[in-house]
Amino acid sequence: MGKPLVAFLTGAGISTDSGIPDYRGPSGLWTRNPEHEKLVTYSYYMADAQIRRQSWQMRRDLWTAGVVPNAAHRAIAELESSGVAAVRVLTQNIDGLHQDAGLPSRKVLELHGTSRFVTCVSCGSRGPVAEVFARLDAGETDPACLPCGGILKTATVMFGEALDASVLSEAAAIAKACIVMFAVGTSLQVYPAAGLVDLAVDAGARLVIVNASPTPYDEMAAEVVREPIGTALPRLLRELAVA
Ligand code: ZN
Repeated sequence: MGKPLVAFLTGAGISTDSGIPDYRGPSGLWTRNPEHEKLVTYSYYMADAQIRRQSWQMRRDLWTAGVVPNAAHRAIAELESSGVAAVRVLTQNIDGLHQDAGLPSRKVLELHGTSRFVTCVSCGSRGPVAEVFARLDAGETDPACLPCGGILKTATVMFGEALDASVLSEAAAIAKACIVMFAVGTSLQVYPAAGLVDLAVDAGARLVIVNASPTPYDEMAAEVVREPIGTALPRLLRELAVA
């Protein structure tokens, strides 16, 4: 038997302390201005060069905000490096902050992809988003794939796109195998997050929810924590480490 597997299902709430807005929350950018949602909707993005120009500009502006991981990201990475448990993160976030906090990339499953890379919709080639930003800085507005001329997009799952089936099946396997699942900063109201919680609980995992507002899974949880994630998660993981 290996080390006990601890899974973290993380959503927008874990990154708000790092200054990343929750775009879909009650005061989120896309909730207040539905026009913004077009910038991350596949059909609009593919059909309209103007949308792509605005979409790249938005991502460029967000990137230069210079976000860094917060205490909650660091606490998860420290649990992993302590060797007390095997750690896997299933995240709805695209910000790469779990990896920035020191978690090895192979231990982070990005359910909605990543904004750190771009991909070509025609030939599938992949590269760092920084290269596209450099081209924007040099004056391009809708940079095309250099090898084939196809449309480039961030390696994120846009509205209207399917989630990666292999990422999903790996996430499901982790949910079924973990002894504890921490659901952190996610409202657990959308697929696949909610389904992963069902899998974990059905398989006997202890569910701990750390979220500012109630979720449909609170009744199922062994523990529900409402205090701010940046203080609650480090404390919970210290307690876990000595258990
Ligand atoms: Zn291409």
